[in-house]
Amino acid sequence: MRVHVVGNVCVDTTFRLDRFPRPGETLNASEHADGLGGKGANQAVAAARTGADVRFWTAIGNDAAGAWIREQLRRDLDTSHLTMLPKESDRSTIMVDARSENLIVTGASCATAFDPLAESGFAASIERGDIVVMQGNLHPNATTACLRAAHGAGAMTIFNPSPLATGTTPHLSDVSLVIANAGEAAQLTGTGDPDAAVRELIRRGAGTAIVTLGALGCLVADGEGRIERIMAPKVAVTDTSGAGDVFCGCLAGCLAAGMDLAAAARIAVRAAAISVGRAGTLGSCPDRQEMKTLMETTEAETA
Ligand code: AMP
Repeated sequence: MRVHVVGNVCVDTTFRLDRFPRPGETLNASEHADGLGGKGANQAVAAARTGADVRFWTAIGNDAAGAWIREQLRRDLDTSHLTMLPKESDRSTIMVDARSENLIVTGASCATAFDPLAESGFAASIERGDIVVMQGNLHPNATTACLRAAHGAGAMTIFNPSPLATGTTPHLSDVSLVIANAGEAAQLTGTGDPDAAVRELIRRGAGTAIVTLGALGCLVADGEGRIERIMAPKVAVTDTSGAGDVFCGCLAGCLAAGMDLAAAARIAVRAAAISVGRAGTLGSCPDRQEMKTLMETTEAETA
């Protein structure tokens, strides 16, 4: 079973400051650094670290940032499915103040122009039983069309509605598994009660659904009326950014290894909790050895 992650990639430049600048003001940052970002890239790397055979379908610009992105991705993935567009590569500027609040500006011309079905041989490469993972960064029409094509080809489709696009939401009947955090689930379903929200996602057509609940782990609905709560281990929180991506990528990788949904979610919850205990987005994702240990020990505990 192969995992196809279809989504965005960008260069995140993070500036650390005591406070945010006011309009018209220039401040010196105490630190700044470039890192690989984008929910698509984060999920593809997390899935690859479970040992899954991952194809990452994304778009970069024909520029120095695009070459840098390719180099970074190559550490974890086969980069032969990157589409090069005649645009600037996507990038985000992230300002983090002394209270760890952040301000983010994103340029996403590659993500919004990328049409995997038109450009990259994506549809032809999907085989029955493959897993296709998408998020909310591409144009909503592209996401809707890709999920429909993947579902039609007999793939298991995973949709993580993050960021939640205004406009079209894909038809949940094309989605085998929707993974939303509590806020997204509330916005999608109109209820702030996670139990009710996870049931509503199924009622609207998703085959199965997961609502993640931060420190409280997640709720897993199997599509037959059963809801299981999986608790997260207690961790000292350092940085929650990227935890949802580690969860989604790890879960997809565990499903590709043949685990059932609850078993995969037990491992994803733990992998995401590890990432919360460390600084960084992709930098905090468990590495291949850690993922392997986590998969072996969690499976042995529940056997
Ligand atoms: P969220 O997107 O906040 O719902 O978090 C996604 C996943 O990250 C959760 O299901 C947990 O596995 C993990 N997580 C997030 N916050 C925490 C936390 N404070 N303690 C432990 N795990 C966490």
